[in-house]
Amino acid sequence: MSDEVVLCYSEETGLAEELVRLARAAAPSDGSRVRAVVLPGAPADAADRLVAAGAHGIDAVTGAASPDPAATSDGLRAVVVATAPTLVLIGSTKRGREVTGRLAGALDLPAATGVTALRLDPDGIRVDREALSGNAVAVERIVRRPAVVAVMAGSGAPTATAVTSVDRRTHPVAAFEAKTERSEVRPKAGGQLEIEKADRIVTIGRGLKKKEDLAIIEALAKALSAEVGCTRPLAAESGWLSDDHWIGLTGHRVRPKLYVAIGVSGAVQHLVGMRSSKVVVAVNKDPNAPIFAQADYRITGDLYQVVPALVKAFA
Ligand SMILES: Cc1cc2nc3c(=O)[nH]c(=O)nc-3n(C[C@H](O)[C@H](O)[C@H](O)COP(=O)(O)OP(=O)(O)OC[C@H]3O[C@@H](n4cnc5c(N)ncnc54)[C@H](O)[C@@H]3O)c2cc1C
Repeated sequence: MSDEVVLCYSEETGLAEELVRLARAAAPSDGSRVRAVVLPGAPADAADRLVAAGAHGIDAVTGAASPDPAATSDGLRAVVVATAPTLVLIGSTKRGREVTGRLAGALDLPAATGVTALRLDPDGIRVDREALSGNAVAVERIVRRPAVVAVMAGSGAPTATAVTSVDRRTHPVAAFEAKTERSEVRPKAGGQLEIEKADRIVTIGRGLKKKEDLAIIEALAKALSAEVGCTRPLAAESGWLSDDHWIGLTGHRVRPKLYVAIGVSGAVQHLVGMRSSKVVVAVNKDPNAPIFAQADYRITGDLYQVVPALVKAFA
């Protein structure tokens, strides 16, 4: 195994910690170094958390904080030029994917996004990526280095590996000249739900007959101290719930300890977003619903009878 310099960045510190752990496991040789980038505006404890996750080095970019992905890409480019990494890992969030494209384009580097597994082989970087709406895994090899690889949250990063000393560097970046102007910032409809962070989720699907019936789902969520999630039709078609609740391939990816799927058929595009849940309970009147294949506990029945009974049992 040759020595690697892996540079890790995500605007979500939790995901950046995962990248550091993943990089330490993927590049275990004594000479390899895992560095983490901290941009202006990051949480005050970001650097400490990244060191605790196993980063050998912290690259702090100084300058004004900017929400523009182009500014993020500029900051990362300065660090890449200064540290000459063999691999750059970026959190594959919506923003991270844009940054990946910008950074790779600016430096003419190969890139891959939506990566769920990564291995550093002598003949290249082997990556697994979701393909065909999550129905298949595409296994690809990146043969040119350095490369920029955007890794999905929950891609199996192991526990932290300790470091004995930390190399801290700062990189002053010239003022960012925005090419776009923000004319207005509107708060998201439906508030600030961060469903990815929920430990327990009660998800409702098209088994629900009308919007008013959401009350029984909310009652169950309350009884279980859970957040309410939904399938795409309830957010994108009927609009009964905001996009914050939408789980799946084109919605949010969640990994709660408890996932209760009610009146959800279990289409693959939905399963992609919830299959890392620890315990899955499904309620469906169709005994052949595909969601049951994913469930640890199966309740075959009408949700209008089952859910009030569950509320009574847990309230
Ligand atoms: C490119 C693409 C991306 C997509 N992305 C997503 C995504 O991110 N997330 C997502 O969820 N979907 C996504 N979809 C849509 C997906 O294919 C399914 O259409 C959707 O997940 C189905 O939602 P559902 O389970 O609520 O509805 P349905 O498939 O209609 O299932 C309703 C279920 O409710 C059950 N039911 C009905 N009445 C009752 C009752 N009284 N009691 C108990 N059970 C009952 C039925 O038996 C059925 O199983 C995507 C599709 C495409 C093509």
